Amino acid sequence: MQHRTVNALRTILLAAATVATGACSVNPVTGERELVLVSEQQELQMGEQAYFASQQSQGGEYDIDPELTRYVRDVGYRLAAVSDRQLPYEFVILNNSVPNAWALPGGKIAINRGLLTELDSEAELAAVLGHEIVHAAARHSAQQVTRGMLSQVLVVATAVVASDTDYGGLAVGGAGLAAQLVNTRYGRSAELESDEYGMKYMSKAGYDPQGAVHLQETFVRLNDGHRTDWLSGLFASHPPSQERVEANRATASSLPAGGRLGRDEYRQQMQRTLNAEAAYALYDEGRKALSQGDRKTALDRANAALDLLPEEAHFHALRGDVRMLDKNYKDAITNYTRAMERRDKFFYYPLQRGLARRQAGDLQGARADLERSRELMPTAPAEMALGSIAEREGRFDAAIGHYKVVAKAGGDIGESAAMSLARLEMPRQPGAYFATQCGADSKGNLVVAVQNRAPATVSNVVIAIDVADSAGQVRRLTRELAGTLASGGVGRVNTGIGPYSGGACPVSVVGARIVERP
Ligand SMILES: [Zn+2]
Repeated sequence: MQHRTVNALRTILLAAATVATGACSVNPVTGERELVLVSEQQELQMGEQAYFASQQSQGGEYDIDPELTRYVRDVGYRLAAVSDRQLPYEFVILNNSVPNAWALPGGKIAINRGLLTELDSEAELAAVLGHEIVHAAARHSAQQVTRGMLSQVLVVATAVVASDTDYGGLAVGGAGLAAQLVNTRYGRSAELESDEYGMKYMSKAGYDPQGAVHLQETFVRLNDGHRTDWLSGLFASHPPSQERVEANRATASSLPAGGRLGRDEYRQQMQRTLNAEAAYALYDEGRKALSQGDRKTALDRANAALDLLPEEAHFHALRGDVRMLDKNYKDAITNYTRAMERRDKFFYYPLQRGLARRQAGDLQGARADLERSRELMPTAPAEMALGSIAEREGRFDAAIGHYKVVAKAGGDIGESAAMSLARLEMPRQPGAYFATQCGADSKGNLVVAVQNRAPATVSNVVIAIDVADSAGQVRRLTRELAGTLASGGVGRVNTGIGPYSGGACPVSVVGARIVERP
């Protein structure tokens, strides 16, 4: 289901980026007139469709403290209620240590666990959420789409550089796009606008706008500390600056003084998450070690994290990932099963268990897991594995469908999929893999140039030539290209059929075989 809806998202972005006519409208927050090519309905649809995949690609929901989720939502709804634009606002905490927050069009907002642990009061939380609410309410993403900024993600969507805890690089198709949507950078003026109106909403909702000043001061301080996770997170999309601190001070002085800071309440609500911080820090170290190939440290950190916080499914999955690399599929399956028992709505666990089960020879179990993972978020590894299982079971059309999705993703896995696709599809429709051109030799006979557009060397290329005799009767003659033809290479077939006097080229490729690498 998810798969189809995120593809619709791509369609909207494409339409928005290519449609040349737009409507001038009044910005709901600033009251200024502006040109926006995206209708409100499209905005709502974009947010709705990308929200789930965006969460998945960022580590999924932080669900082990439902009380905290309720608290964050309450603060968010209080601000949303006084915003200039009523949208179907939603707020979620993501299970990700990178300090970050983002808003999708239509009011779909997320804040990372790693940002919550840096804040010190409810007013600071309100400052973050108020800021993100303005991004959505003032249609900042829609403006980006209008300016053609977002259409670029169509090209780079699959070339995401994934950090240790970022799963976005695995996503394919529309899901890859959704993963990118959350990394949208707005301009300097959009950031200042979000700060200013976010503070107005804070004040209206009863919060002390000084919270936003404290927040910016914290950001500047952390930025000066050059923490790399900050650079990859919030600071990439929301660059902090002394300018923003000063602007917030000025805005605060224009608003009524006082209001709720909520320090004690915030600390109390954050107690469990602050206690769990050490466990997540160990886990992040383990992930980093694993990405550098250090399995021993990774396993060690996963075990230590589990001692502190046994209910966190990510920690079990990290153990599973170490066992996968050890080719210990039996234990890997056990680890992923434990992860799935603790959290059933995260794509990564069924993806990995499916891959482990396939390695262990359990194709049926593998297929069920991979299908489940694909429902949550389509990824290149799941599509690739489903393709190879379908191929092994003789379901060639299904296999071709899966390989096509991955082939579009590029990279090593995309190339490998394009190869599998060509191997399966070429015997069925060889014409799709060749370009042909007709010409005449010195005797006036037909010469055919054949270009190999498949990603591999081919042999036994057979072309069919439709020849009309004097009575208008069409006969089909075939000729074979001698030898092999490398990918991208052009071969010539002297047909001996003539005379050819130009015009239509009555030729098609009807047979070819991929030369398997030794
Ligand atoms: Zn921002």
